[in-house]
Amino acid sequence: MIQPFPTGVQVQTKVQSIDPATGEVWQEYDSATPQQVHDAVAKARAAQQSWGALPFKDRFVPLRKLFNLLFERRMEVAALITRENGKPAAEALVAEVIVSLDLLKYYLRYAPVWLRTKRLPHENIALKMRRGYVAREPLGVVGIIAPWNYPLMLPLGGTIAALIAGNAVVLKPSEFTPAVALEIEKLFREAGLPDGVFHVVVGDGSTGAALATSDINKIVFTGSIATGKKVAAAAAEKLVPVVMELGGSDPMLVLRDADLEHATSGAIWARFMNCGQSCVAVKRVFVEQGIYDSFVTKVVEKVKRLRLGPGSHPDSEVGPMIRERQIAVLESQLNDAIVKGATVLCGGKRRPDLGPLFFEPAVVVKVNPTMKVLQEETFGPLLPIVPVRNVDEAIDLANSTPHGLSASIWTSDVKRARELAQRIETGAVLINDAVSHVGACEVPHGGAKASGYGRTHGRDGLMEMTRTKYVDLEPKTFVRRPWWFSYNQKLLAQLNRFAEFQFSRSLLERLRGVPATVGLLRRKTWL
Ligand code: NAD
Repeated sequence: MIQPFPTGVQVQTKVQSIDPATGEVWQEYDSATPQQVHDAVAKARAAQQSWGALPFKDRFVPLRKLFNLLFERRMEVAALITRENGKPAAEALVAEVIVSLDLLKYYLRYAPVWLRTKRLPHENIALKMRRGYVAREPLGVVGIIAPWNYPLMLPLGGTIAALIAGNAVVLKPSEFTPAVALEIEKLFREAGLPDGVFHVVVGDGSTGAALATSDINKIVFTGSIATGKKVAAAAAEKLVPVVMELGGSDPMLVLRDADLEHATSGAIWARFMNCGQSCVAVKRVFVEQGIYDSFVTKVVEKVKRLRLGPGSHPDSEVGPMIRERQIAVLESQLNDAIVKGATVLCGGKRRPDLGPLFFEPAVVVKVNPTMKVLQEETFGPLLPIVPVRNVDEAIDLANSTPHGLSASIWTSDVKRARELAQRIETGAVLINDAVSHVGACEVPHGGAKASGYGRTHGRDGLMEMTRTKYVDLEPKTFVRRPWWFSYNQKLLAQLNRFAEFQFSRSLLERLRGVPATVGLLRRKTWL
């Protein structure tokens, strides 16, 4: 049954591709209606039957072609990403296209091994005669709901994993980046993916809501915590499993013995790449007091050298933000800090001379935990730096928000850093680096606490797209199961001795259990 949209939800009938660097609307698309979303899911379900039944070698043919096409057209695809999302061309190529190619290559190489049905040897002596197998089956239709900040890598990563595992996919991209999603669809079509196995339904949140309430078998949602809660609630109604990749406020802990040059450069890249619009961007920096002043001085010096400009220009390092709404939120978080006593050391202003959505990277100090910049996710070029007395205080502050996506520790004492990593409540901790783990295809990506659950990428990300099925085989039918009816006093006594044989710490008791165990295995039952 098609679910109506919740009352009060505004439905956008069109979505637009806008160049954030100029504000130019360069394409417009009709949003999918709820009926079209449900039709897409039904078609995907029908197509999945034969797709999921194909042997790997046949399923891999269009996926290998997709790899070749994406590789051949890498610069073209990167340019499209820049045009719709605004990020510098180098970032579009590295963080989107190259990461996607890596992931595809990785899964094509290892998926046949990981997804193969495996023998499961039994532990208990009473079960030793039987054979068990664990199979990994496709789930059916996977619904992917994606954000705009990595419009190729995020939806394509989930799609590749789902398809390789034998599922069909319906993708609902962000309303800000429909063209990149439609490019993915085009590439799959050219690669010869069978009809119906992959669909894109463009639209806003109401289209996402229609997908979340449709007849799907799993949802992979990437986006904000607020939307994630709605999607999780919709999925719970039908007990549909979900992967939740949500927002973060990743802390960076800079210890007294850190390499300052490395740490300051790392902080700047990990905060301001993608114009600060990355889930795992460094969003709060805690620096031990002894090096705080020199850290701040170096950061400000370097931030002032960052080159703002359109992502299409090869020298641009920080592009525009995605939409006016995002700048307004960032400004309100910054103003909240200023009103409460924070100081902005550089940036923090719009740059209309460059384009409608440019915002100068800001470094903010004299911040405290009452301010939104330390409590909420800041999704733009804003770096708050906080002095801390010691590591314990840094860890307390790091763990003080509801988020738990990733964190970084910067120090020359790697052994100590590994111990500290255990005390940080996040899905990942990087030592002397940040952000880059999301680009490593083998790393399971995902959060703790309100940053979500489930994993994408790596082996875990592939397994999320499968249902575990256990198959049991008892080759000998002439032996009755010792635990079948009939129950009587003798059986109870035998089972008691069997338990001793299995688990007792006394060798004598275990030996005493041997005859009872043999008796049990040869037991005659009336069934
Ligand atoms: P968002 O929550 O506004 O939107 C995400 C997607 O959900 C979009 O496609 C949107 O149309 C859709 N949507 C909106 N309302 C919906 C509803 N009621 N039901 C179903 N779908 C709905 O997030 P955004 O602004 O696109 O992305 C930014 C957020 O995503 C940030 O918080 C960022 O940290 C997070 N993010 C997390 C990860 C991660 O891996 N953890 C990666 C990228 C982005």
